[in-house]
Amino acid sequence: MKDSELETMRKSFNTVKKRSNDIKDSQSTKRLESRVREIKRYSIENNSELLNQALESFKRNDIEVSIAKTAQDALNIIDELLKHYKTKSIAKAKSNTLGEINLKGHLADSGIDVVETDLGDRILQLKKTDNKPVHPTGPASHLNISKITDIVNESLDVNVNPEAREIMQTVRQDVLNRLKDANVGISGANAIAAEEGSLVMVHNEGNISIVSLKDLHIIVAGIDKIVPCLEDAISLVKLETIFATGNYVTSYMNVISGPSKTADIEKKLLKNMYGAERVVVILLDNGRSEATPECLYCIGCGNCVVHCPVYNAVGNEFGFNNYLGGRGVAMSKFLEDDETCYNSGLYMCTLCGLCTLNCPVAIPTNEIIENMRKLSTDVGFYPKAHGIIKDNVSQNDSPY
Ligand code: SF4
Repeated sequence: MKDSELETMRKSFNTVKKRSNDIKDSQSTKRLESRVREIKRYSIENNSELLNQALESFKRNDIEVSIAKTAQDALNIIDELLKHYKTKSIAKAKSNTLGEINLKGHLADSGIDVVETDLGDRILQLKKTDNKPVHPTGPASHLNISKITDIVNESLDVNVNPEAREIMQTVRQDVLNRLKDANVGISGANAIAAEEGSLVMVHNEGNISIVSLKDLHIIVAGIDKIVPCLEDAISLVKLETIFATGNYVTSYMNVISGPSKTADIEKKLLKNMYGAERVVVILLDNGRSEATPECLYCIGCGNCVVHCPVYNAVGNEFGFNNYLGGRGVAMSKFLEDDETCYNSGLYMCTLCGLCTLNCPVAIPTNEIIENMRKLSTDVGFYPKAHGIIKDNVSQNDSPY
């Protein structure tokens, strides 16, 4: 990242820090943190049982569901679904899981335009190069208004002024035009309630509603998103919102528990009244079953990176794909391999523990990383005096 981008990112992070302190420190938030930690602990320990329960509940709700062992499996399932919907464009909502499986890159090869509906994500998409997000809910927090204006003007061939509302309206109109004929929407989910077979999604822009009103709504979510019931799912997304945005709730919370349907004419069941006629859920494993359990407690608020001294210094170079900071580095070992983990910044971490102190579910990321470092030396990845490099050396040369 450029110095100017890092500076803008740090300014944005400081705004988030100031805005959210009162809510984060309140007694009710402390109680919610304990509750969500317990929900996540229980859910990860009982993931297989909850997964089976979710599968049954989805079927009962007329939601089609598949399990994808790998990212490629998920892409294959999506390809198969799209054959029946000859769409040239797809409405996409913000999702780390879709970034994980490289959905956009994959579908670009098939000539399908995957249009980001979240404003920050769309700005990054228009930027074309160096367009990795810097925060899970504020992906373009490193770009100032002048830079965003240039991006929008160049990519959309318009002449907007550096004025936030004007930019927002221009991007919105362009997105809606591109999605006029799209009949497929795709998103992730913030939490999944096993008992009810419901998927919970939070958003401020109203864009999930656009995605879920297409004929086919595909939802790709990690198996770690499953919690016992809807009350637990709501607790989780409420805590995520507090730590991501500094607000108690987002403008919208969608709970999707089946396709759109009506029986208002002689009790004849009809699908696809306004919303999707098919809701298809793809539950992604992709290494999660092998992961250090605490890594899966993450609720995706991004508060760790806001407070991380390394991340504030180097930006999204510290992390893997859309999974930013130390926790992202740790996850990369399971989502990819040891080498990816090493190259994502295994040895950048200062082990200061500020991420854990600022994590609402207290993931001991520094301890996990320290342990991974020990293991990494066994497979030839360790730091050397002049920078961080990989070297296949004998154990005698290892600093450990
Ligand atoms: S590791 Fe903790 S602070 Fe970081 S995104 Fe996950 S839940 Fe939030």
